[in-house]
Amino acid sequence: MENLLDNLNKQQREAVEHTEGPLLILAGAGSGKTRVLTYRIAYLINEKNVYPSNILAITFTNKAAKEMKERVQSLLEGSYDMWVSTFHAACARILRTQVEKLDGYKKNFIIFDTDDQVKVIKECLKELNYNEKNFPPKEMLSSISKTKDQLMTPGRFMDRYGRDFRLKKVADIYSLYQKKLMANNALDFDDILFKTVELFQNNPDVLQYYQNKFKYIMVDEYQDTNYCQYMLVNLLAKSHRNLCVVGDDDQCIYSWRGADIGNILNFEKDFPDAKVIKLEQNYRSTQTILDAANSVIDRNFGRKSKRLWTENGEGKPIVYYKAMDERDEGDFIIGEIDRLAFQEHRDLKSFAILYRTNSQSRVIEEMCMARGIPYKIVGGHRFYDRMEVKDVIAYLRAIQDPDGDLSIKRIINVPKRGIGKATLDLLEAYARDTGNSLYEALLFVDSIDGIGKKAKNSIKDFVRLIAELMDVAEKESASAVINEVIMRSGYLEVLEKGDDEDQERGKNIKELISAALEYEEKNEDSSLQGFLENMALMSDIDGLKEEREGITMMTLHSAKGLEFPVVFICGLEEGLFPTQRAFFDEHQLEEERRLMYVGVTRAREKLYLSSAFERTIYGSSSYTMESRFLREIPKDLMIKM
Ligand code: ATP
Ligand code: MG
Repeated sequence: MENLLDNLNKQQREAVEHTEGPLLILAGAGSGKTRVLTYRIAYLINEKNVYPSNILAITFTNKAAKEMKERVQSLLEGSYDMWVSTFHAACARILRTQVEKLDGYKKNFIIFDTDDQVKVIKECLKELNYNEKNFPPKEMLSSISKTKDQLMTPGRFMDRYGRDFRLKKVADIYSLYQKKLMANNALDFDDILFKTVELFQNNPDVLQYYQNKFKYIMVDEYQDTNYCQYMLVNLLAKSHRNLCVVGDDDQCIYSWRGADIGNILNFEKDFPDAKVIKLEQNYRSTQTILDAANSVIDRNFGRKSKRLWTENGEGKPIVYYKAMDERDEGDFIIGEIDRLAFQEHRDLKSFAILYRTNSQSRVIEEMCMARGIPYKIVGGHRFYDRMEVKDVIAYLRAIQDPDGDLSIKRIINVPKRGIGKATLDLLEAYARDTGNSLYEALLFVDSIDGIGKKAKNSIKDFVRLIAELMDVAEKESASAVINEVIMRSGYLEVLEKGDDEDQERGKNIKELISAALEYEEKNEDSSLQGFLENMALMSDIDGLKEEREGITMMTLHSAKGLEFPVVFICGLEEGLFPTQRAFFDEHQLEEERRLMYVGVTRAREKLYLSSAFERTIYGSSSYTMESRFLREIPKDLMIKM
C-alpha cells in the first residue's frame, strides 16, 4: 500500500487519507479527481479494513463505473463486491429488494422506456379528454420528468400550481400517469430515483439499514447532480457523514437536464465542517492546452477561480484549420489522423473527434468508411444505424420497391397512423394466403375481414402516400424525394414537436438530405436508385470494419471524464457551437463555454480546432462566422493551417 500512495501527489494523498467526515474535492479537469476516488476505495479496503460492501461509489456513466471497478480490482489484485455504479443502477438495485414497502408496488416491477411512457400518456389524454395537440405527449413527459427531479408528487404539484388553468390539467395528467404506471407495476426512469428517496423518507428502518451499509460514500462528477440525487446522497450520508464528493464547477454541462451547480457550490454550507481539498496540478495535458482552457473558462462570471498548471511541458501549439466546407473539414481531420498514425506510429485509439451535435458525425463517418478507417461512436449511434435514419431509408426503399415487405412493415405505422399490430397480422396473413406481397395486401384491404374502418382508411391513405412518392421519385432527384418523404409522411413534423431527443432525430433525418445533395454533386445519376445503391455499398464496408479498434467520435457532452492523446473539436462556428439558443441567454452561453472547456481539456498532447467557411447541415447550406470561443484563446497558443 505504501507504494500505492506514492502514485499520488501531496493533496491527492491527503484526500485519500481523509476517510472520516465530509470531504469536498473541487478541482479542475485532469487533476486526478477520478483517480483519487479510485485510490480512495482501494485505500479504504486495504488500509482501513473497510468491507467492500460498505462502500458506495457513484459515477456519471455505466462505462465510468466499469472502469473504476476494474481499476480498483487491479490495484488490489482481487475481485470485490462493491457498489460502484450510476445513481440509477444503485437505486434500481435497492428497489429490487425494497419496492414492496412502497404502496402498490410488487417485487417484479418493470422499467418503462420512452415508448412505453408515450403510450401511457396517450391513454391518459384520451381518458381525460385532453387534446394531444394542446398537450403534446413528449412535452408532458418532459414536464413530469422535471417535476420528479424536484421530488414533487402529483399532490404537491397540484397544491403548488393547481390554480393555473393549464398547469392544473398537467397535474391531472401527471396524477393519472402515476396511477397507470402503478397499475402496470412499472416505474419510469425518473421514478427509480424518486421512489428510492420516498422509500427512505417513509421508512426510517430501511433508511437506517442503508445508512449502516454504506458507511463510505463517494460521488464523482458531483457538479452535474440534480436535486433528487442530492437528496439521496444527503439522506444516506446523514448519520455517518463519511461523504466524499468530487467535481469541477467549470464542468457543469447538464443544467438543461436539471443538474444544479449549487449542489457542489453549497457543499460547505451543508457540511460546515467539511474538509476542502483543491487539486491544481494537471497530469493530463500540455501547458499550451491548459492555457487555452484557462483563458476560455476565465470569461465566465461567478466561478470559483482555479488555475491549472502542469509539469508536462509546453507541448505543441494548438492547430486551427479553417475549412472551406464540412467536407474539407472532414478531409483535413482524417488526413491528419492518417499522417499522425503513420509518422508518429499512433494507435487509432489515440484519436477523438468531438462535435456539438450528433448529426455532425455523418460527413466524417462517410469519409472513414470511404478510406476504410475503423471508428466507433460513443453514447450514440452511427448515423446510418440511427432509428430515424433507417425509417426514412425504409421509405425510400419502399418507394423504390413496394414489394419489399420489410421496408413496408417498418414504416406502415411510422409516424403513428393507427395501423396497429392486430391489423398488421391480418394483412400479413392475407398476403401469405394469397401469395401476394404485403403492399399488394394493402391494395386489397377492403376485402380483408376483421380490419376496422378507421384502420382501413389509414391504410388507403398510406397507399396513396407511397404512390404519390413513387411519382415524385420518377421525376425528381434523390434529395427532393427525401424532402417529400419527410414532409408528406408527417414524420418530420412529429419529431419537431417532440422533446429534445426527438428534435435531434428530426435534425438527423434532415441531414439525410445533405447526404443526398452531396451524392448528387459527385454523381451523374442523381436518381433515388443511384443514391440507395451508393449507400448500400458504403454500409457494406462499414459492416466489415465494425469489429476493429478505431478512432472515437462523440458529442462534447459524452466526452466528460475521458481523455485522448489527440483531440479534434470541429464545427467551431457561431450558431453551432455556441448553439444559437445561447446568443441571448447569458446562462446558456456560460454553459456552452463550460462545454468548450470540457472539450479542450480532453486532449493530452495535441489539440486541433476547426470550422467551416460554408456549412451544409440539416439540408440547407449557409456561410458561417467563426465561433467566439476561437477568439477567446490567445493567438500565441495557436497556429493556423
Ligand atoms: P476530469 O475533470 O476530466 O474528470 P479528473 O480530475 O477526474 O479529470 P483523472 O481522469 O483522474 O482527472 O486524471 C487525469 C489523468 O492524470 C489520468 O490519466 C490520471 O491517471 C493521471 N494522473 C492523475 N494524478 C496523477 C498522479 N499523481 N501521477 C500520475 N498520473 C496522474
Ligand atoms: Mg474525472
